Amino acid sequence: MLDRTSVTAFGHVIDGQVTDRATKEGIDVLDPSTGRVFARLPRGTAADVDRAVAAARAAFEGDWGAMSALERGRILMRLSALILEHAAELAELECLDTGKPMTQARNDIAATARYFEYYGSAADKHHGETIPYTRGMTVMALRVPHGVTGHIIPWNYPAQIFGRSVGGALAAGNACVVKPAEDACLTPLRMAELALEAGLPAGALNVVCGLGTEAGAALAGHVGINHISFTGSPQTGTAVAKAAAENHVPVTLELGGKSPQILFADADLDEALPVVVNAIVQNAGQTCAAGSRVLIERSIYGEVMKRLAERFAALKVGAGIDDPDCGPIVSARQLRRVSELVDAALADGAKVVATARMDAAAPEGGFYYPPMLLDGAAPESRLAQDEIFGPVLAAFPFEDEAEAIRLANATPYGLTASVWTRDGGRQMRCAHAIEAGQVFINNYGAGGGIELPFGGMKRSGYGREKAFEGMISFTTIKTVVLKHG
Ligand code: NAD
Repeated sequence: MLDRTSVTAFGHVIDGQVTDRATKEGIDVLDPSTGRVFARLPRGTAADVDRAVAAARAAFEGDWGAMSALERGRILMRLSALILEHAAELAELECLDTGKPMTQARNDIAATARYFEYYGSAADKHHGETIPYTRGMTVMALRVPHGVTGHIIPWNYPAQIFGRSVGGALAAGNACVVKPAEDACLTPLRMAELALEAGLPAGALNVVCGLGTEAGAALAGHVGINHISFTGSPQTGTAVAKAAAENHVPVTLELGGKSPQILFADADLDEALPVVVNAIVQNAGQTCAAGSRVLIERSIYGEVMKRLAERFAALKVGAGIDDPDCGPIVSARQLRRVSELVDAALADGAKVVATARMDAAAPEGGFYYPPMLLDGAAPESRLAQDEIFGPVLAAFPFEDEAEAIRLANATPYGLTASVWTRDGGRQMRCAHAIEAGQVFINNYGAGGGIELPFGGMKRSGYGREKAFEGMISFTTIKTVVLKHG
């Protein structure tokens, strides 16, 4: 367990070693619940990224690349077991680093272990194809790894996004270089050490700490990288895709959303409303798949808003370690961003319907933003269109199914959506008409589901992670044409 009374120096994990433990010149890591510095990271440079890419290449061309799929899978399964053995330590680290409530941190670590279990057991089960071609010839389409893959991951789910991205890439046989976010990256560093304990050869998995504009940009534009997986903001996604394009490197982009939760008048509200609230309050709304808009059929608008307001008012906000309903925002910078977007929405005509309450025992200095329910905004306003990335739910009425679908699709994003109705025909009509990578009917996964393909349409990005699909993204096809007569 981490000594919470002092500042722990972390290092990169490169070529099987923890290196360059942070000095005072490094990057301070703050506990969002208290604002206190509790860890420090090295500020990685382009030279550190060069070392990591060289180590990954050597592993890919050496021990790691030579391993059978079965052996690779067994190592990932051992890593999964080690993550579960260290679950208490990792959950505490995730909670301190991101501010998320302990229960959620524990769930995130369990999900991360499950990613390595899923991909470990899938490593020897994805096949290429043979193609019936000309008599006297056999054609094989082999599924081969890209080589060295780059992974730029955000601060909102450091453990889970590390698991889903690196798990699929390693299972497919790639060697990885990860640049986690400077605001929260301690669990990926710790899990990279556990991977060595699990038997992963040195260099197969490297984690370089540092700033996005320095280490991140160096990784995105590196000539030694063969594929990049990026999760984060649309602006940075554009920069990463442009840098990758210079080297003609394929990219997977997962860029967030403005996901609608649609409540029809025939919905089971007792079941729906707790899910609707959780879909925006989970992780203090800092979830790419957060259900940040609730669209409510006009005939039940008043009743639903009353019941949602009661739920928001009952939520308690406090330090992650005390396991409240909602923890703090990750950083002072993000808190300012959320607060400015909400202030602009209020100036634009939106009204606050309810806010959650602060835990009186919450420490001073934390970055708290109590969950808030708003209505009265126009569907074209910034509140309806922009990803706030905070625990802010905006409500909008609709008249009929056609308007619900029109509003659901009326943002640049298309990541996830939920539809709450008992009408079977409408369930499927909505599922087909909504532009989103995942549509949930009478439930909401908020991005969950290791086994479910996940990714965006429109400005939410392209490519898929999670599920088998996620592993296939980390491969390419080599066609072998054998003439045997
Ligand atoms: P960001 O996109 O800047 O950061 C994500 C990752 O990219 C981090 O690891 C960061 O170090 C890295 N990065 C930053 N600049 C880079 C560059 N030029 N080249 C390569 N890598 C770079 O996100 P942020 O600034 O921390 O957050 C801003 C907003 O992004 C949030 O308010 C939210 O709307 C959105 N966001 C979305 C997700 C998501 O899951 N879709 C996650 C985090 C943030």
